[in-house]
Amino acid sequence: MSTDFKKLLPETAAQFINNTWVASKNTDDIKNPATGETIAEVAAGTTADTDNAIAAAKAAQIKWAATPQPQRANYLYAFAQQIEKHKNALATLLTTEQGKPLAESEGEVDTAILMLRYYAGLGWKRTGHVLASNYPNHQAITKEAPLGVVAAIIPWNFPLAIFTRKTAPALVAGNTIIVKPSENTPLCSLALATLSKAAGIPDGVINVICGEGSKVGDALVKHPDVQLVTMTGSTRAGKIIAKNAAEKVIPVSLELGGKAPFIVLADADIEKAAQDAIDARMANCGQVCICNERTYVQREAYEPFMRALKKAAEAIVVGDPLAKKTTMGPKVSPAEKEHVEELLAKTQQEGGKIFWQGSIPSDEKFKGGNWVAPTIVTDLPATATILKEEAFGPILPVVVFDTIDEVVGLANDCEYGLSSYLYTRDLIAAMQISDALEYGEVYINRYGPEEINGFHAGWKLSGIGGDDGEHGYQIYVKQKTVYLNYQS
Ligand code: NAD
Repeated sequence: MSTDFKKLLPETAAQFINNTWVASKNTDDIKNPATGETIAEVAAGTTADTDNAIAAAKAAQIKWAATPQPQRANYLYAFAQQIEKHKNALATLLTTEQGKPLAESEGEVDTAILMLRYYAGLGWKRTGHVLASNYPNHQAITKEAPLGVVAAIIPWNFPLAIFTRKTAPALVAGNTIIVKPSENTPLCSLALATLSKAAGIPDGVINVICGEGSKVGDALVKHPDVQLVTMTGSTRAGKIIAKNAAEKVIPVSLELGGKAPFIVLADADIEKAAQDAIDARMANCGQVCICNERTYVQREAYEPFMRALKKAAEAIVVGDPLAKKTTMGPKVSPAEKEHVEELLAKTQQEGGKIFWQGSIPSDEKFKGGNWVAPTIVTDLPATATILKEEAFGPILPVVVFDTIDEVVGLANDCEYGLSSYLYTRDLIAAMQISDALEYGEVYINRYGPEEINGFHAGWKLSGIGGDDGEHGYQIYVKQKTVYLNYQS
């Protein structure tokens, strides 16, 4: 399988509207985060682009909704097949554009495929409800109906998987879609657009508009013909989108920030907990919404845990993300790098001590990259900024605790509520603590990722709505009740 991703991209900067590349006069440069070199020029979208894409999606939607659901599902199987066929090119593109190590990119391509196959399967199995009626010879049934045109606004940390995570349920439910990729990673969406066309998905069913969130993203949300906004990204942008959608009284599904606590009780398998704590913090250079953002270790286990944590951290290989042995690449952008560096400086000003720090590549080729050394910090005051604000980078704060009540209080004292972790061999403690944690996900004795059958949904400022599974599908449909009188 070829690793050449250029053949999946338009020859010049263009938007993908109605299965056609529409050239753009205004362009943005996309840079390789490992080197700072320009990889490609992409369209810098305008509101005229969004209007055209929405018109195409609207025109296509009636016919698409009238296509029997199992047939819509078959298009998703074909799309998955195309992605599988171009797995190496997509993984290479993802690593080149986003910076994650190649093995992680390959895993992400597999997840993108899984999303399509899962929702294709679900499309073959839809049922409604037949309801008891209060009247003789009457019957009532509930049916699902699509919402219409969906806007999917997606981030840069999983640009392939989140594309299909939103597109698969939207399409199988009978909606058409406009995907607005992150400014940092539009190439992944454009490559998937090429493959959706190759899969035979009809004109206008999937459209991709590149450009700034505050411009084209905003225009999508406010457009009268968009009937659902599904967005993954920051709480900051999520709040703006929710306000704008409220003006139109349309639903939103928002997957926002997180600040996952990672709790290790003294009776846990300490080696495993330490290895998972590192993996759950450092994966994708710390840029995962379910990342271990703050580790809490019970005092009796603190010393052995820190020894095991250091050993696991020392095995991290920071370097060329395209090299097989690399386990950590750069941050996605200079802005993201600065954010993490500032947070680390603040942590030290607030009293935090660096317990361990890795290195960044010294090779001349990587001088212009967004490198951040993986770091573990300890001795933090309870008020430390890094225990409250999302780091989204490879800095791991570790805190000691004594009692279960204390750690549950610390974990829940947080404005976010997406994921949480708990390591213990005590089943009773595990169940009682997981009941007490104010989080949409609790991982007990395991690190993520979340699974497609589950429901990835944040509580509190981590969002509303959610993705995956049957619950995630319900975001993309509305219900209709039909009352039937068959009295002769
Ligand atoms: P971001 O909010 O800056 O951007 C996300 C998307 O929203 C981008 O496509 C952007 O262009 C768009 N956008 C920005 N402002 C907008 C506006 N006013 N109107 C419409 N669209 C707008 O976030 P990011 O930096 O790309 O991603 C990082 C954040 O995403 C982190 O906070 C992370 O926790 C979160 N995230 C959450 C999940 C999850 O499943 N909960 C998954 C991945 C990332």
